[in-house]
Amino acid sequence: MPTPPQAIGFTLDPLDRVSEKRDDETFVAGLRDDPATRFLLFVNNVPLFKRANGHDPLFGASEAAALGAPLQTVFLGRDADRRALFAHSFDGQMQSLPEVEAVELRPIAMQDLVSAPLVSALGEARSMLDWHGRHRFCANCGQPTDSAGAGWRRICPNCKAQHFPRVDPVVIMLVTDGERCLLGRQPQFLPGMYSALAGFVEPGETFEHAVYREVLEEAGLRCTDVRYHASQPWPFPSSLMIGCFARAATTDITVDRNELEDARWFTREEVGAMLDGTHEQGLSAPKPFAIAHHLLKAFATRAWD
Ligand SMILES: [Zn+2]
Repeated sequence: MPTPPQAIGFTLDPLDRVSEKRDDETFVAGLRDDPATRFLLFVNNVPLFKRANGHDPLFGASEAAALGAPLQTVFLGRDADRRALFAHSFDGQMQSLPEVEAVELRPIAMQDLVSAPLVSALGEARSMLDWHGRHRFCANCGQPTDSAGAGWRRICPNCKAQHFPRVDPVVIMLVTDGERCLLGRQPQFLPGMYSALAGFVEPGETFEHAVYREVLEEAGLRCTDVRYHASQPWPFPSSLMIGCFARAATTDITVDRNELEDARWFTREEVGAMLDGTHEQGLSAPKPFAIAHHLLKAFATRAWD
């Protein structure tokens, strides 16, 4: 399996998902009852951590059981030591434990508060538990559905439809004209921060077409020569960021003010200063856990031009 570029958040999945055994109930139950097995615990999609031990999200079976019966369980996989990892979700009614705290996954990932492989496992778990929470009823007939396949699908007992967890592809693209790149600002960004443009892939589109369309819609630019760079699972709730470069075919920018507060061209030197935190006007770029940072870094260092 190719190694993803180091330090992009959520890309260092440490688990063998053993997907071919998910329907083997004896196998899955054996792992769940194994004393070595660990559990990631979520309350309303927020992971729990042991206070005593930095930010440790790994709980034993008895610690997990102290919270009561989970709403949902997913078998995530086995680590390099063949130790199984499961995820449990609870609602706000579960037992609260004084030695445990809930912290949103995004700041945990941004601040490197747990190891990169564990951040990836937490992301996998968050996406899966969020999906279960939103898909309790059959999209086909409206009846309640049941979890199956160790938590990797839901089945409707009424119409027999099977429902599978979804991933939403998002293109994120750095458009360059050779020496400059196009960056935009969304109103909710931190003051002074600019990033690569991005948007959801629509049905019937290739990644390339989604890049052409989004750049034209958001910045009024035509582009060409779309190249794939790297991807990133983004578990808020279930996106897959597809990082691309593209070549500008036109350079006059018309900003879509419904989507962006601003968009403009930046030189390599400016981008380097934004990544280093030394930009003269105090402008900044996303941190290394975001794939946009890696697109910008590849451009600034001429790893891609
Ligand atoms: Zn149904």
